[in-house]
Amino acid sequence: MPKKADLHVRTIASMGRVSPAEAVRLAKEKGLAAIAIVDHESVEAIPEAVEAGERYGVEVIPGVELMYEEGPREAHIIGYFIDWKNRSLLTEISRSQAARAWRIRRIIEELQKLGIKISYEDVLAEAGNAAILGRTHIASLLVKRGVVSNMMQAFDKYLSYGKPAYVPRYQLPLSEVMRPIFEAGGVPALAHPKFSRAEELVPELVKHGLRAIEVYHPYHTKDDVKRFKSLAQRHGLIETGGTDSEPKRSPVGTVTVPYKVVEELRNWWKELPKRLKKLLG
Ligand SMILES: [Zn+2]
Repeated sequence: MPKKADLHVRTIASMGRVSPAEAVRLAKEKGLAAIAIVDHESVEAIPEAVEAGERYGVEVIPGVELMYEEGPREAHIIGYFIDWKNRSLLTEISRSQAARAWRIRRIIEELQKLGIKISYEDVLAEAGNAAILGRTHIASLLVKRGVVSNMMQAFDKYLSYGKPAYVPRYQLPLSEVMRPIFEAGGVPALAHPKFSRAEELVPELVKHGLRAIEVYHPYHTKDDVKRFKSLAQRHGLIETGGTDSEPKRSPVGTVTVPYKVVEELRNWWKELPKRLKKLLG
């Protein structure tokens, strides 16, 4: 059987469904050769996953997903093969997490002004023991309270850009957003381009060093895959894919790519030192 990899595995460190060790065990069970541990703004899961990878004989690629959001322009950027102890990366992650908590408080204020009675404590409780608070926690609370009937509506009515409870977040400019990944020696990939204005953003990101794009993702239709494959080819990007937080099927191995994608990423990673001077400016 050809070797396969799931290059977007999310754990409980960022609202995923499995512990890091469990993710690796599932990968073994599904016969995967490699998985990338990719949590949203967290590298907490990596040490446990690497350790489990050695135990189960599954290659674990350390990754992270950083967010870019400036008004309607949104992109999630994955860094593959990162040094998860790198100081610049860790600083950027904590800065972003602090800004995120601030933003949640500000959104709650805006909702309160609209007469919706929720508090920061309510959102914390909704998030359970999630390490990171997000707008999705507010959205699910609004559903529970009957303010809206589903998550999508919470964003459409209140939380999205241009809507009454939208609050901009602290953000590195697009030209800088991959810097923490480069500083940690990682290879940057655009995650789930379906949720970005990919045609607009990819050329700009490529100029700043983007190397790969997630062509295969549970939410991508056949047409999406076609579109992003051609975008990848136009810009010479490596075509990655993975399961992310697909809610209905297995959290590992629902979407996979041939192992040769890992080799392509690794080859570029090996060449990274030569490129860093240009990339970091
Ligand atoms: Zn994402």
